[in-house]
Amino acid sequence: MPRKKKRLTSAFGAPVGDDQNSLTAGARGPVLMQDAHLLEKLAHFDRERIPERVVHAKGAGAHGYFEVTADVTRWTKAKFLNQAGKKTEVFARFSTVGGERGSADAARDPRGFAVKFYTEEGNYDLVGNNTPVFFIRDPLKFADFIHTQKRNPATNCPDPDMFWDFLSLTPESIHQVTILFSDRGTPATFRNMNGYSSHTYKWYNAQGEYFWVQYHFKTDQGIKNLTRQQAEVMKGKDPDHATRDLYEAIARGEHPSWTLEMQILTPEQAQDFRWDILDITKVWPHGEVPPVKIGKLVLNRNPVNYFAEVEQAAFCPGNLVPGIGISPDKMLQARVFSYHDTHLHRLGPNYHLIPINAPKRAPETSYQRDGFMRVDDGGGSGPNYWPNSFGGPAPDPSALEPPFAVEGYADRYPYQFPNDDFVQAGNLYRKVMTARDRSNLVGNIVDHLGNAQKRIQLRQTALFYKADQEYGSRVAKGLGLSLAEVKRLAAVSDQKRAKATAA
Ligand code: NDP
Repeated sequence: MPRKKKRLTSAFGAPVGDDQNSLTAGARGPVLMQDAHLLEKLAHFDRERIPERVVHAKGAGAHGYFEVTADVTRWTKAKFLNQAGKKTEVFARFSTVGGERGSADAARDPRGFAVKFYTEEGNYDLVGNNTPVFFIRDPLKFADFIHTQKRNPATNCPDPDMFWDFLSLTPESIHQVTILFSDRGTPATFRNMNGYSSHTYKWYNAQGEYFWVQYHFKTDQGIKNLTRQQAEVMKGKDPDHATRDLYEAIARGEHPSWTLEMQILTPEQAQDFRWDILDITKVWPHGEVPPVKIGKLVLNRNPVNYFAEVEQAAFCPGNLVPGIGISPDKMLQARVFSYHDTHLHRLGPNYHLIPINAPKRAPETSYQRDGFMRVDDGGGSGPNYWPNSFGGPAPDPSALEPPFAVEGYADRYPYQFPNDDFVQAGNLYRKVMTARDRSNLVGNIVDHLGNAQKRIQLRQTALFYKADQEYGSRVAKGLGLSLAEVKRLAAVSDQKRAKATAA
C-alpha cells in the first residue's frame, strides 16, 4: 500500500506550499521579507547548536535496564534495589573528556560512564568514568586541570607543555596518569571497558545505618584496548568508531552488559582503613575489600534521535534517591554543584522537562515555576509556595538522610599523607601489569611526554621514578634523560614534601 504522504508545515503547523523557491519580486528580483517560511527556516537553523559540554562533549548513548541480582537491603533502602530480579529502566552515556563534539573516539583520555536510573523514587544518576581514580582530589584544581588538556590559548592546538607542566606539578595525579598511559587509556570500544564510580558514596538502610561504597561496572564483553599505534590509525580512519560500534552492536541484537560489583565498608572499617576513603586518587584494594556482585546493566535500545536523547541528556551526581547519599569527598561535593550548573547553562532552567531527563516513574511535584522553555502546564493553578493549606505537595520525612556527624575548624587543609600518592601507582606497575603492559605504558609515555620541554620531562619522570624505580628509569632511558638528574629531582621533591608535611 502506498504510504499516505505527510504534509509539510511551518513550525506552527500551517501548510507550506513551496519549500524549494524563495519568494522574490519578479523572477530575478530580490527576496521579499514577507517570506515568513524562509525566515523561520533560516532563523531556526542559525540556532540549531547548543553549547557543547565543556568536558565530555563527544559521546554516545543507549537505553536499557538494570537488574538487581542479590539482596542488598542490609546496606541500602533504595527501592529500585530492594529485591533480586527487580528491573529499572536506564539510559547510559559514554564519552571522551577533553575533545570537542567532533573529536576522535580513539583519543587517549578517560571515558565517561554515566547511567541514569528512572526509579520509582525519582531519577538516580551515577556519573562515573572508566578509571577507578582521578587526577586531582580538590575541586579548586579542576578548571586549571581541564584547561591543560584543551587547546593552547595562542596556538589553539593541544600543548604537551601545558599537559605535562600541570601534571608534573600535581604529584597526586601519578596513579591516574599511569592508568591513562596504559593501553586502558585507549579502550577498543565503549563496550569493552569497565565503569567505576571512582568516588566513595554513602548507602544507608531502613534502620539508619550507613556504609561507604564504591561501584564497579565490569564489562561482560571483556576488556579490550587499542595499542597506541592502532589508536593513531583509528583516529584518522574512523573518528567515530566507538559511537558506531555501540549503535551497530545494539542494532544487531548484541546487547552489551556490565556486572555491577560493590565494594562496601562500615564506618568503623573505614576509620581504620589503610587508605583515605575520601581520596579519589586511591582505590580500595580488592584483597582488603572484596567486591560483591549485585546486579547487571544491559543496553538494548538505540536512541531514535541523537540530539533529543544523547546531546540533551543531562546527568548530575546530586540526583539521588533515598538510601543513597554522597560522601564528603571534596571533588564529589563540587560536582553536585557543577553538573547542575552546566546543564542550566547548556539546556536552560527547565532541562528536567526534556523527556530524556524527566523522571519517568515519579512525576515532578515541586514548587519550581516558570523560566525559559517551561513546556508543561507549569504546576497549573496549584499553589506555588510551601507551606500552603490548599493541598499542595508536602515534604516526606521518610526521605530524609540519617544525620551525619562532622566536626573541626573551617580551613583550607592540605592533604595529610602526600607520600602515599606513589604507592598505588607503583603497585599497579609492579604487581598488576604484565611485561607487555609495562612496555606499552613506557612507550606511550615516551611518545607523548617527549614533545614537552626537557625540564618538564625531567620533573615528570622523577614522579614515575618515585612510583617505581624501574618505571622511572625506563621512561628516562626512552627520553634520553640523565638518570642521575631524575634521581636528584625525585629526592629533592621528597625532602620538600617531608618539610611541608612536618610543618
Ligand atoms: P588486584 O590485583 O586485586 O586488582 C588489580 C585490578 O587492576 C584488576 O582487578 C583490574 O581491575 C585492574 N587492572 C588490571 N590491569 C590493569 C591495567 N593495565 N591498568 C589499570 N588497571 C588494571 O589489586 P588491588 O586491588 O590491590 O589493586 C592494585 C592496583 O590495581 C591498584 O593500585 C590500582 O592501580 C589497580 N586497580 C585497582 C582497582 C580496585 O578497585 N582495587 C580497580 C582497577 C584498578 P578491574 O577488575 O576493575 O578491571
